[in-house]
Amino acid sequence: MKLCDLHTHTTASDGSDTPEELIVLAKKAGLSAISITDHDTTAGLPMGRQTAKREDMEFIPGVELSVSFPKGNMHLLGYFINEGSDALHEVLKRVQKARADRNPRIIERLQTLGIPITMQAIEEIALGGQIGRPHIARFLVERGYVKSVGQAFDKYLKKGGPAYAPKSILSPQEAIETVRKAQGVPVLAHPFSLMAKDKQELEQIVSGLKAQGLMGIECYYSEHDEGFTATCLEISKKYDLVATGGSDYHGKAKPYIKLGRGKGNLRIPYSCVEALKAARDAL
Ligand code: AMP
Ligand code: ZN
Ligand code: FE
Ligand code: FE
Repeated sequence: MKLCDLHTHTTASDGSDTPEELIVLAKKAGLSAISITDHDTTAGLPMGRQTAKREDMEFIPGVELSVSFPKGNMHLLGYFINEGSDALHEVLKRVQKARADRNPRIIERLQTLGIPITMQAIEEIALGGQIGRPHIARFLVERGYVKSVGQAFDKYLKKGGPAYAPKSILSPQEAIETVRKAQGVPVLAHPFSLMAKDKQELEQIVSGLKAQGLMGIECYYSEHDEGFTATCLEISKKYDLVATGGSDYHGKAKPYIKLGRGKGNLRIPYSCVEALKAARDAL
């Protein structure tokens, strides 16, 4: 069966592999297609595309936008986006500024908690990529304040945690419209992170987003169990949304997630790519 991975992060955001390393790894893993979907940036796409060409690997340009949502976390994936789009560029610039304003606030809170952390130390971990909480988590692991990235989130960095600082970001509608303006296909990322209490609540959220122009939903995902994957697939059919899938590979920032394989038994059929292409062609 032909397989793909449509959700990955590189050093352009909070992943630890360069776009080149990621594509080479995808080739080794035997994947037929790969998308790079860094948080709020398209900076990794040119190198990813170039390496994919060299490695004879199908490459789908992507981006993952952070979206404001009251309860859990909402992320919106955009596939086949035109990186040259002015609308996309303007929005990314705004979100990147919001991130840059937020990082010092997280650092300050950690300092108040007695941890000698500096912006400079985080910049060194981020290697010039866009800084996110996983970089800060890696610092806390490396200095022995916590045992794992997961523990760093639980103890300090999670939404509402003692070192958490919110970033003002896009509304779901604005994010969907921006992807559409950039000729991309907007897809709801990892629906489990919405923390919907049941299927009905999830459906309600999805149908609202669909009315705003959503075209797909990420069904196959590292943190989705079989039952939740089936629920997502069912909702995707009911609302005529493309079913996509990805591991959310981050390299060292999430060492328990393998490219194309998630926690071990994730398999993302290539038919997801075909459905995405059909959606793009219908735009
Ligand atoms: P940020 O972009 O700074 O808001 O951070 C979001 C990133 O943190 C995403 O890549 C998430 O996958 C990651 N993240 C959120 N919660 C956790 C957690 N509990 N363990 C590991 N990574 C997490
Ligand atoms: Zn990330
Ligand atoms: Fe995400
Ligand atoms: Fe992600």
